[in-house]
Amino acid sequence: MVQEKLKNITYKEETEEDMILNLSLRPMRLEDFVGHKEIVKNIQISILAAKQRKEPLEHILLSGPPGLGKTSLAHIIAHEMGTRITSTSGPAIERAGDLIGILTNLEKGDILFIDEIHRLPKIVEEFLYPAMESFQIDFVIDKGPYAKTIKFNLKPFTLVGATTRTGLLSAPLRGRFGIFYHLDFYSIEELAQIIKNSSCILGIKIEESAAVEIAKRSRGTPRIANRLLRRIRDYAQVAKLKRIDKETAIQALESLGIDKAGFDEIDRKVLRTIIFNYGGGPVGIESLAASLNEEADTIIDMIEPYLLKAGYLKRTSRGRVATKLAFQHFGLSYPKEDQVKLF
Ligand code: ADP
Repeated sequence: MVQEKLKNITYKEETEEDMILNLSLRPMRLEDFVGHKEIVKNIQISILAAKQRKEPLEHILLSGPPGLGKTSLAHIIAHEMGTRITSTSGPAIERAGDLIGILTNLEKGDILFIDEIHRLPKIVEEFLYPAMESFQIDFVIDKGPYAKTIKFNLKPFTLVGATTRTGLLSAPLRGRFGIFYHLDFYSIEELAQIIKNSSCILGIKIEESAAVEIAKRSRGTPRIANRLLRRIRDYAQVAKLKRIDKETAIQALESLGIDKAGFDEIDRKVLRTIIFNYGGGPVGIESLAASLNEEADTIIDMIEPYLLKAGYLKRTSRGRVATKLAFQHFGLSYPKEDQVKLF
């Protein structure tokens, strides 16, 4: 049961093909992790200090939108520490019993990676507190008057938690992490570097200008950059091209429905719905989700972070608002603020 759960790592919106690709393109060492120099430097220091003290690392919480490298960092940390990593996710651990199996199998210094840790059931979360704090778990045997609590000592381990929504994490859980890092969207230069590195691994030549063009349309996200690269590689292969040039990249991106801003159909649908159905907003997330026939969480986790960051969307106390940039994106003139009642 537990083994089954362990395998049940969620890869969010990824297909099986993406999953395999991601594994082969996943950086294994800190020096291969592009960008976030400050975080990389701090992790390097923590790892060095822990190794010198011959102690496990403190528990680490990684936050940020999907596809920015949280899972990769967890694997890199295990690799650099020379320890094993066990991966699971919040929704995969339904009962405290599932967690007992995982925790008791950990060796000294092992990394336990819990993706989407904000989705751990409350009861499991509470069970995790003493495990994180003093490497002990209490379990109850028997029932009723014969019930006994037994303390079980665990081997000291490091929990690496990943979350797309720090706001949903309870204060007691957050407080038990010693180290926090927030991963933000990547710059075009960093994404172009990732694309060039991935092309090397995939064995396809790519021109600098093509890498930059793909980077510009990757929504600041390495996972998307790699995914687009792979689609474009197929395109170049069918066209019998030896290398990906800018023109091929643009043609392939257009045929994939990725526009100049890097938006795909769903991004455009969100913005169009706010503009046409709600006069530019404000619109509450639940109404927006209902109009789009999507889950509110999908919009909050996957779609809107980049639209907010890139300045196409604004979040106000009354709901989401399409900005001037969003109107311009569709070739529309921006109505006067008082007409669309923006604020
Ligand atoms: P998350 O766990 O935040 O959803 P992942 O760690 O699964 O993101 O990253 C998705 C993919 O993006 C990885 O497989 C890897 O190929 C690539 N990637 C992410 N961050 C970086 C980075 N900083 N440098 C190089 N590749 C990266």
